[in-house]
Amino acid sequence: MCRRGLEKFARLGFEQGQSGDDLAQSQGAQISPVHGGTFSLMEISVRRLVRERAHHRCEYCGLAERDVYIPHHIDHIRPKQHGGDDSPENLSLSCQGCNLKKGPNLAGIDPATGTLVALFNPCEQIWTEHFVFQGAVIKGLTPVGRATVQVLDMNSRERVKIRQDLHDTDNLT
Ligand SMILES: [Zn+2]
Repeated sequence: MCRRGLEKFARLGFEQGQSGDDLAQSQGAQISPVHGGTFSLMEISVRRLVRERAHHRCEYCGLAERDVYIPHHIDHIRPKQHGGDDSPENLSLSCQGCNLKKGPNLAGIDPATGTLVALFNPCEQIWTEHFVFQGAVIKGLTPVGRATVQVLDMNSRERVKIRQDLHDTDNLT
C-alpha cells in the first residue's frame, strides 16, 4: 500500500515471490508496457517499488498477485488523461479486474446517496476505513468505498467466486 495503506494485508506477511518485472530485469529482458513506449531501468525500479509497497496485492480488492495468472497492473490513480504522472505517489498496484474497470475514471456515484464522489485513492486513504470484507464480498463503508466497489465491479460473480475459493484455501482472510 502507499503510505498507510491496507494494514490488514500488510499483516498477513505473505512470502513475496519474484514478480514478472523482477524476472525480466534479472534476465535482461525488456518489459512491454501496457500503453505503449519502452520502460527504462529507472521506470522498472518504480514499478518494483509500487509492487513491494503494496505487498504484491491489488490495492483496491486485495487480490494477491501470486493467486492469478495475469500479473497485476501498475495503475495511475489519477489517469494520464486527467494530468496524472508516473510519480510513485500517483501509482498503485491493481489486479487486472480492478484496473480494467477503473480505466480513466476518477469518480463514481455512491449508490446509497446518489452523490458523485472521487474513487478510493490507495496512496492517500486507508482501505479499512472505506471497505470491509463480508465473507468473499467487499462492502463499501463510505460513499467513496461504495462508489469504488461499484465502478470497479468488485463483487462480480466471477470475482466473488475467486475470493471464495481463496477463502476456502485460507489464502485470503
Ligand atoms: Zn483488484
